Amino acid sequence: MDLRVVRMRLEENEERLSPFAARSKHAKRRIAEEPAQVRTAYQRDRDRILHTKAFRRLKHKTQVFIAPQQDHFVTRMTHTLEVAQVARTIARALNLNEDLTEAAALGHDIGHGPFGHAGEEALAECLPEGFRHNYQSVRVLDVLEGGGKGLNLTLDVLDAIEKSSKAREDIFAEGWGVPNTLEGQVVKTADAIAYVNHDIGDAVRAGLLTERDLPDAAQSELGRTSSERLNALITDLVEASWGATGEMDAGPAVIRFSPRIDAVANELREFMFQRVYFYDLTRAEAERAKRVVIYLFRHFVAQPGRISLDYSIASDPVERRAADYVSGMTDRYALRVARELGCEDAVGFGI
Ligand code: MG
Repeated sequence: MDLRVVRMRLEENEERLSPFAARSKHAKRRIAEEPAQVRTAYQRDRDRILHTKAFRRLKHKTQVFIAPQQDHFVTRMTHTLEVAQVARTIARALNLNEDLTEAAALGHDIGHGPFGHAGEEALAECLPEGFRHNYQSVRVLDVLEGGGKGLNLTLDVLDAIEKSSKAREDIFAEGWGVPNTLEGQVVKTADAIAYVNHDIGDAVRAGLLTERDLPDAAQSELGRTSSERLNALITDLVEASWGATGEMDAGPAVIRFSPRIDAVANELREFMFQRVYFYDLTRAEAERAKRVVIYLFRHFVAQPGRISLDYSIASDPVERRAADYVSGMTDRYALRVARELGCEDAVGFGI
């Protein structure tokens, strides 16, 4: 039996998607490949991302709270899975390509270094060209994984990952560009919907705030529990973005909240910046984590022979190789290596 009929049927099913949806049969790769038998191009990308070692390491990388000892704090991996779920719900509701959103969501944070944004800031100070996790996610998937050859993902998936980051001032601000596909725009928004909510949960768990501290508008318009807020944000986004379905007279094909919920969501996100992300206590620990990353970076620049060839490209400049290696580390691996090297800042974390 020629199993290619399965993929062709899946591609045919995509003809029923919105006229604005991405279609896997048109997806391009840097290097052309024979299509898979039973999966579309986007499904194949999703599987390639899921099976990387970089994906597995997300379970021991910080989301917001650094190296938490307690099991219920969100890690980069659980964050990633929540983003994928929110994005798929929205994509399916709007009749967009769910497989593309899933692939991009699973890969969007794969380039995050240890200790979350503290690690990112540290590496940005170390490298002359700077360091951004969204660009590093693309680099991990397109260059470093697959034994230094990259995974040859579709350009749509790489574009959605590169442009998944958001500027502080607004969820929909153009920082790092607007994704070319509506599916990429869904992932970008799903990321904010997911993290604002689970970070509230973690901040409550850490004793930094209670749900009653949240802005009044967020409590009255989005609800008082995580599930109410998620539901309110997702349903508002689906309704306000209905034009993306391509149904007659439904408005322009853009992904957006209604003006009212947009204001409430951005106020809530800014509240989180002030009360949690830049809070002094978490900030003091973040500064210490930054020093650990800088220590490791300098160590490997001085001793390039100790950089694993599995996580860097031998012909790259030594700073780039050290950044690739250190940014691939989990929180606990980074702390272990730093402690073994005698870095005092690495002592005293929970793990
Ligand atoms: Mg994210």
